[in-house]
Amino acid sequence: MTGLVVGVVATAASVFAAPATLTGLKSWSSPANSRVVFDLSAAIAHVAPDSGFSREVEIALPGEPIARAQGVPSTLVVRDGVIDSVQVLTGVDGARFHVWLRDSTQFKVMSLPAQVDKPYRLIVEAVRRGGAAAEAQRMETIATEKKEDRVRIVTVDPGHGGEDTGARGPRGVLEKHVTLGVAKALVDELNQIPGIKAFLTRDKDYFIPLRERYRLGEKMKADLFISIHANSSRRRGAGHGSEVYFLSLKGASDQADADLADTENAADLVGGVPQSSDDLVSILYDVKRNSALQQSQLLAESLLDHLAADRRLESRGVKQAGFVVLKSVEFPSALVETAFINNPVEVRLLASKDFQKNMGKQLAAGVRSYFQRAGIGLNSATGARVSP
Ligand SMILES: [Zn+2]
Repeated sequence: MTGLVVGVVATAASVFAAPATLTGLKSWSSPANSRVVFDLSAAIAHVAPDSGFSREVEIALPGEPIARAQGVPSTLVVRDGVIDSVQVLTGVDGARFHVWLRDSTQFKVMSLPAQVDKPYRLIVEAVRRGGAAAEAQRMETIATEKKEDRVRIVTVDPGHGGEDTGARGPRGVLEKHVTLGVAKALVDELNQIPGIKAFLTRDKDYFIPLRERYRLGEKMKADLFISIHANSSRRRGAGHGSEVYFLSLKGASDQADADLADTENAADLVGGVPQSSDDLVSILYDVKRNSALQQSQLLAESLLDHLAADRRLESRGVKQAGFVVLKSVEFPSALVETAFINNPVEVRLLASKDFQKNMGKQLAAGVRSYFQRAGIGLNSATGARVSP
């Protein structure tokens, strides 16, 4: 009896005695904003403004001593046009994090609970001035050119990015890098097909919320949307092969697909976007939606048919699940789980440039055959401007 009580006390004491540690300090730059992320070993009380407009943001973590893990710098020079530098000051009575901005800039400070494989985090996000306007202008230009050149627009979405690494494979291979490699290869291939112009939702390593991804497609007046991912099985060695998803309104094909959708949909939690209710339920039976779903199935089948041409990967079929990123009604969309990143054979393929290029080729052939099967003609005289 006594031993048990002593054990409990010792555990509680050791929990309270353990100082919080700063385990990571990184920055990410996107066209819209710039972020600094402080990884901490435990949730910790902090004092900082929630949001504001300033040249300097200070986060105070009073009371507890905070250690810096090995390899975590005390100063981070960013100089990305939004954030100049970050400074970490630690002492016995607490710590202060300083973020120096280039100009007086709109910012917000968020704390995120530990999620999936992420620790507790403090995030400072600063708005890139003119960034949103420049992005809007870029989308408008694409939409105008689409009309003038009479081309089909394909939006290719490399899954994850920045803070949100996606699934992890052996030897440090991250899903967010693999998806960008395959997506770039696909865009290059698509742009060689007369009558098609392809664009990425992100061309660098930064986080985009799930809904923002398809909204970018909507703004550029996309005809198709393809999101690229890599799978990861929870049971060791269980997973191999490729599968292509389109949206399900009623739930997933089976439990494993539901789990996968939950994992992919967790991206916003990992990256720090508040959960919102599904704003599309009211148009569940909309004709537009049904037509987009039918075309999405055809797209998914066309993509998988061509992926299956690569004999190194088994075809796992076309499946359905409730992926947030597929929820636009403006165009058919599909999500490609290229291969399994935690499978020792497939991760080697996924990390190789040759394989990524080949996968881009196969998926581009899938897109071409989708347009054929859907009876959608491609303007072969691309480049020659057609007067409106
Ligand atoms: Zn993913």
